[in-house]
Amino acid sequence: FDTSAAAGGVLTIDCRALADNYRRLRAQVAPARAAAVVKANAYGLGALDVVPELIAAGCRDFFVAHLGEALELLPAVRDKYGARGLAPLRLYVLNGLMPGSEGTCAAAGIVPVINSLDQLERWARTAAARGEKLPAVLQFDSGMSRLGMAQEEAGVVVREGLAEGLDILAIMSHLASADEPHNPQNDDQLRVLRTIAAAFPDALVSFANSSGAFLGADYHGALARPGIALYGGAPTAAGKNPMRPVVRLDVRVIQTRTVPAGARIGYGGAFVAPATMRLATLAVGYADGLPRCLGNRGAAWFEGVRLPMVGRVSMDSLIVDATALPEGALAEGALVELIGPHQSLEDLAAAAGTISYELLTQLGRRYHRRYR
Ligand code: PLP
Repeated sequence: FDTSAAAGGVLTIDCRALADNYRRLRAQVAPARAAAVVKANAYGLGALDVVPELIAAGCRDFFVAHLGEALELLPAVRDKYGARGLAPLRLYVLNGLMPGSEGTCAAAGIVPVINSLDQLERWARTAAARGEKLPAVLQFDSGMSRLGMAQEEAGVVVREGLAEGLDILAIMSHLASADEPHNPQNDDQLRVLRTIAAAFPDALVSFANSSGAFLGADYHGALARPGIALYGGAPTAAGKNPMRPVVRLDVRVIQTRTVPAGARIGYGGAFVAPATMRLATLAVGYADGLPRCLGNRGAAWFEGVRLPMVGRVSMDSLIVDATALPEGALAEGALVELIGPHQSLEDLAAAAGTISYELLTQLGRRYHRRYR
């Protein structure tokens, strides 16, 4: 029994393409270093599988959102700390240092991204109590108004020596509009970050995400933090995607039928057959991360033929119009493509009116996963 048939579909993750994308991004930002953003389970692809591949490709710095995510990843990086004379592997927590988590964070050797003066004071107190210099990244808000200390607080940190006793690995900020190269907000943020960084002459600067890596050297800083481009998402809106596709999604046909003109298809009869139609029901639905709004809008592909989705997406299934295929071409158990050579991650996301990030992170755990 092919165990992949026990799931609604097969999610294939091309680890060689992932490693190539990492090297491509590192070359793009060189001489800066390239970290990897592996939050949200490596954008849904499986952080425990993805991180070792990135370590093998030379990545030493990994960013997650929550301390819990970093703790889950510890076994994947622990044995490799300082191995073979390489720089130590580091796990950074973007969302900051939650009250009460200081001891756990320090004991695990995890680097908090410090987002407020209060977090900084608590981390410095923890360092003093432990009698060690704890590492930290200081995040400043350069114009996105989401996370990080205010620009003026940089002066407070320096004047009051709040970071003494800590090892400040980097000053970081996040770009809000890097996917729009001509948006003046990019330059505005760069200017603010430069002013802040001048107060910390010994620290690295970490600024660029995937799109930022393609905005020019001014944005690279010393430690870039790409996420989506590692996983094959397009870092630039215009032109050909320079990254290799990493994800392929094929889903099972679980039933086929022929319906007459006038047949109502799916919940609410949201599609009515205009003529005799051959339909195929696929074994994935919104519980597998396929947005319900793909109903009557999205498509699957089979051997180069587009199969439009008809009717609403159900929880565990959806229906496609297979009339364009010869009779019998799609049998029960066949696999059809949802993400692959005919339909990119971006194509499917666009059909759902969303972005590749959201689609990828929602794909969920029900697929049979193949890492190759
Ligand atoms: N840095 C921070 C602070 C982020 O929140 C993210 C992701 O949202 C990234 C880097 C990676 O961004 P991207 O996936 O666009 O490369």
